[in-house]
Amino acid sequence: MNTLTGVGSTPLSGVGTARWYRPDADLTLPDRPDPSAVDPAAEQTEFAAARDDAREAIRRARDRAAARVGADEAAVFEAHEQFLDDPGLVADIEAAIADGTPAAHAVHDRFADAIDRFEAMEGPMADRADDLRDVRDRVLSALLEGDADAAGGSVAAFPDGTVVVAERLTPSDTAELDPDAVAGIVTAAGGRTAHAAIIARSLSIPAVVGVGDELDDVPDGATVLVDGEAGRVVVDPDEERRATVGDDEPPVVSAPVSTTDGRPIEVAANVGSEAELDPARARGADGIGLFRTEFLFLDRDAPPSEDEQYAAVTAALEAFPGERVVVRTLDIGGDKPVSYLDLPTEPNPFLGTRGIRLSLSTHADPFETQLRAMLRAAAHEHGDSLAVMIPMVTRVEEVEAVLETVDAVAADLEAEGVAHAVPALGAMIETPAAAAMADALAARLDFLSIGTNDLTQYVMAADRENDAVAGYHDPLHPAVVRTIDRTTTAAADADAWVGVCGEMAGDPALTELLVGLGVDELSMSAVTVPSVKARVRDVDAAAATRLAAEAVACETRADVRAAVGLDGDD
Ligand code: PEP
Ligand code: MG
Repeated sequence: MNTLTGVGSTPLSGVGTARWYRPDADLTLPDRPDPSAVDPAAEQTEFAAARDDAREAIRRARDRAAARVGADEAAVFEAHEQFLDDPGLVADIEAAIADGTPAAHAVHDRFADAIDRFEAMEGPMADRADDLRDVRDRVLSALLEGDADAAGGSVAAFPDGTVVVAERLTPSDTAELDPDAVAGIVTAAGGRTAHAAIIARSLSIPAVVGVGDELDDVPDGATVLVDGEAGRVVVDPDEERRATVGDDEPPVVSAPVSTTDGRPIEVAANVGSEAELDPARARGADGIGLFRTEFLFLDRDAPPSEDEQYAAVTAALEAFPGERVVVRTLDIGGDKPVSYLDLPTEPNPFLGTRGIRLSLSTHADPFETQLRAMLRAAAHEHGDSLAVMIPMVTRVEEVEAVLETVDAVAADLEAEGVAHAVPALGAMIETPAAAAMADALAARLDFLSIGTNDLTQYVMAADRENDAVAGYHDPLHPAVVRTIDRTTTAAADADAWVGVCGEMAGDPALTELLVGLGVDELSMSAVTVPSVKARVRDVDAAAATRLAAEAVACETRADVRAAVGLDGDD
């Protein structure tokens, strides 16, 4: 038995037979001919045809991913098309061909330059190098094998019980995997924010990424246990260890849960597309605590119409009749650009024009369209449980402007004779400014939802996607815990309900702390709903309140971690 350590990416475990996936192995370039033997015109024609083939293959992969895991994850293929058509990259390849380089070598060399540039960047931009490799392999497959689907497509053929072992997986590879056949994924490279990791989570495939070079020693055919919760890979696990597989998957609890002393806690799911609604229901979610509507805008070249947005919101209401469905208005900008919406290019986008700032300025039209769809959905037969929330709030005036816009939209719909109602309205608490003003916001609204991903980023001045400052981007820093405490107290004083919809909500090790801090609702990716529900049922609310008071009094991250029973910090 030999244990390797990496980063747990999907918090599930699985055991199976290791099969190395080496997609590059089939794409060996022929020897480089003398430039005088190359016909540049013919090579340019072949390159253009290969790009067309690759584009078709990318679109097919996108459609398959949209059908299997949803528009959110399929949106990555939009980015692949943009890489394929990147004017600078295409011009560089064409110039190399014009100088006598065969098309395949030109593609290989110029993509290598671009991949190197991305890899030199930090954080999520480095993960985009995987996307470039994916596009390169499609073009090379079209040129060398006459089949742009060959790249990445072969993973679909792995037999049942396979643990896919690879240097790295591209998003296309991952979207092709059959979740019923694949017992797990282990990669030497890659991080949690890579698109491939996000897709694996949506498919509920146990995954450990970033294991490093030691993975090379794992032979094809070895029995491998993937522990995506602990971030461990056990090679040749003994019977006792194997027997633990599946222990981390508590049974689905469909009914609402309460603490041992009877305090109800709503455990809801975060979704970004209609395709994620049924899986959320199947994992026992009590409703939707965060519908990221911006994902409805990503996988396309024009905004969704009012009717399309109405259909998406009412689909959520129908999937969870009588249960709360919280839909967030557009949170574009920052790290979520939408090419056709003409967003500003900013040097520091996380501190720039994102979320509600856009909706109340340059992007008032798409915002109004969205509100029309939501007010109409509130008149649906299950519309009473609809709630709408605003992202990236920093000022009370923003909430007042939204309330005025909602009134104006309601008046328009009334004048048009269109059925509508005003849903419950809330604000996300994602900035220190919003937390400081939580009393004033709660006084004007029905609820607050704490987005701990951004809140931690802004309280700690630590980019949420930069591994170098991961020790700062931890919601267990006392500054963040105190900010949450301030928010929950303000909500309770104003009789507004309060939830948490950042990643923190999905960590069962933190459930007791959050319950003790006074949250009413926890919303998370569906895969963690069963374990958080199980944890809520073991929490004693009175003891949780004492634990939260202890955590709020702490002065260091290590002390908070010790208080909640976690190991010390870095
Ligand atoms: C958050 O910031 O915690 C949040 C839930 O919003 P998003 O992750 O979509 O920015
Ligand atoms: Mg956020």
